Amino acid sequence: MTIEQHWLTNVKRISSPNYDERPDQTDISLVVIHCISLPQGEFCNPHIDELFCNQLNPDDHPYFKEIYQLKVSAHILIKRDGNCVQYVPFNKRAWHAGKSNYQGRERCNDFSVGIELEGTESIPYTQAQYSTLKEVINCLLQTYPNLSKQHITGHSDIAPGRKTDPGASFDWQKIK
Ligand SMILES: [Zn+2]
Repeated sequence: MTIEQHWLTNVKRISSPNYDERPDQTDISLVVIHCISLPQGEFCNPHIDELFCNQLNPDDHPYFKEIYQLKVSAHILIKRDGNCVQYVPFNKRAWHAGKSNYQGRERCNDFSVGIELEGTESIPYTQAQYSTLKEVINCLLQTYPNLSKQHITGHSDIAPGRKTDPGASFDWQKIK
């Protein structure tokens, strides 16, 4: 796995329309870890791809009626089996963090890479996911000089009181 033209090579690409320009393309300096499952606790279905492409069907599940109109995305999703999907090239701004603050800087989407793990805050993530996550982080570190291991954070840390992902089920030691 490497990065060419801001896309991971050998990774499935599904282009999301939910992105725009970063205010400063050279400022990619934070990695934000999230989790997602649709519906909650159910894995290995197309609903995350659908959500990020504005194609989620509100009739497929009661919860989807609440979220199908959201315009959201992440750069990367790492599925339970460790396979990865990329939705937005890294030089563009994906819409994953919302109102957020990292060490005094607001609007973290401007300067971060958003990585979603398929999962929940209580079910342990898989070894395959940790292994892919490490590989993706290493690729990012090699490509974007302003990123560093010290600036990898959770959504809950940049949006406290509003967000709780990736949750206690995420073992930070595994990506140290
Ligand atoms: Zn999140």
